[in-house]
Amino acid sequence: MAADLRIVIENCAIATVDANDTEYASGYVVLAGNRIESLGAGTAPEGLENVVRRIDASGHLVTPGLVNTHHHFYQWITRGLATDHNLFDWLVALYPVWARIDESMVRAAAQGSLAVMARGGVTTAMDHHYVFPRGSGDLSGAIIGAARDMGVRFTLARGSMDRSEKDGGLPPDFAVETLDGALAATEETVRQHHDSSFDAMTQVAVAPCSPFSVSTELLRDGAQLARRLGVRLHTHGSETVEEEKFCHELFGMGPTDYFESTGWLGEDVWMAHCVHMNDSDIAAFARTRTGVAHCPSSNARLAAGIARVPDLLAAGVPVGLGVDGTASNESGELHTELRNALLINRLGPHREAALNARQALRLGTYGGAQVLGRAAETGSLEPGKLADLVLWKLDTVAHASIADPVTALVFGAAAPVTASFVDGRQIVEDGRLLTADEDAIARSTRDEAQRLARIAAQG
Ligand SMILES: [Zn+2]
Repeated sequence: MAADLRIVIENCAIATVDANDTEYASGYVVLAGNRIESLGAGTAPEGLENVVRRIDASGHLVTPGLVNTHHHFYQWITRGLATDHNLFDWLVALYPVWARIDESMVRAAAQGSLAVMARGGVTTAMDHHYVFPRGSGDLSGAIIGAARDMGVRFTLARGSMDRSEKDGGLPPDFAVETLDGALAATEETVRQHHDSSFDAMTQVAVAPCSPFSVSTELLRDGAQLARRLGVRLHTHGSETVEEEKFCHELFGMGPTDYFESTGWLGEDVWMAHCVHMNDSDIAAFARTRTGVAHCPSSNARLAAGIARVPDLLAAGVPVGLGVDGTASNESGELHTELRNALLINRLGPHREAALNARQALRLGTYGGAQVLGRAAETGSLEPGKLADLVLWKLDTVAHASIADPVTALVFGAAAPVTASFVDGRQIVEDGRLLTADEDAIARSTRDEAQRLARIAAQG
């Protein structure tokens, strides 16, 4: 939408998720171009010019768009496999399948992953992609193209693995890159695709896969590469007791100390999971402003444990929410993770005081923008920020009798999305994508999943 054109949204409840958690029981939001121009209680100011559309959002809650901070899109075509495994057994079962992916499979899987998230209110997505089999084509280009076509804001975390079975790692030898090859390809991806501007739709982060699938050199050199290029760093950390044991056996220290020794704590870093952390690990994250992607469903699916989210938040650690790859969270939806984060954390030691509805919504919006390094641009509804927002329909039988709209959104069933805007452009209407054909994506993902299964079965 051109910068001088306006869309007015009125008569809705609004949860801004700003620093004061400002909410309006009935208010308005004015979008101008790709920015939020104004918002507040009551009706929109009179005399606005160039209003191209007025939306009566009665019965709706408007929130910032959801921000996903950890995912592996390619796993969309390996869902429902190894369903009763812990992380390491699950990885060993799936690596031989994943090692057979190609560009066409990855494109379809990215479309499937993005479609389900976008339809459910995600406006900023990310993909941590770390499997680059030799001769598999331009996987990064296929993923970035799928996100661009879907119209969501996007960070590609360009992953890598160089510690295979022969070096004591878990991936088979043919599924990994060399140290130099991974670093060169990552740098090339940043140079080709990273946009550092305020309203960037595509960013790239440097993202070696995990301590148990990459060499110490790749972690250390990857951190230096990211800082030289001015981009962020992402990896998996402290996910399971098995990983903790692996780090103690190989490196003589736990994961957080190992990350610190390789340059991997800092405000430009975010890590997925962070389940098994002691008080001094949490203090180190807080001191360095290292971010966390909390993935409650995946942690439950793989029996990894419950991350100490209340303690992380109390210490001042930035925390966002992650779907994680859909081989460990077949749903692939983020709006349901608001509820799952709240419920799972209440099973931990803080019980009913662990998280409330507002905190859960903040994890899924502003917290996510923080860990992706985009909190100045998106993640809350404030004048001057990007027009990334969602209209949740809360006046149907599923939600209408719940006392409060934010409670309805978090505690209730997954709420339907009447409209979702990214960069001022509407990408969802009445629960359907405007930017892609969901039925065509369903067919192509099924076909590519079957093709991958056939190729993997041939060995
Ligand atoms: Zn993951």
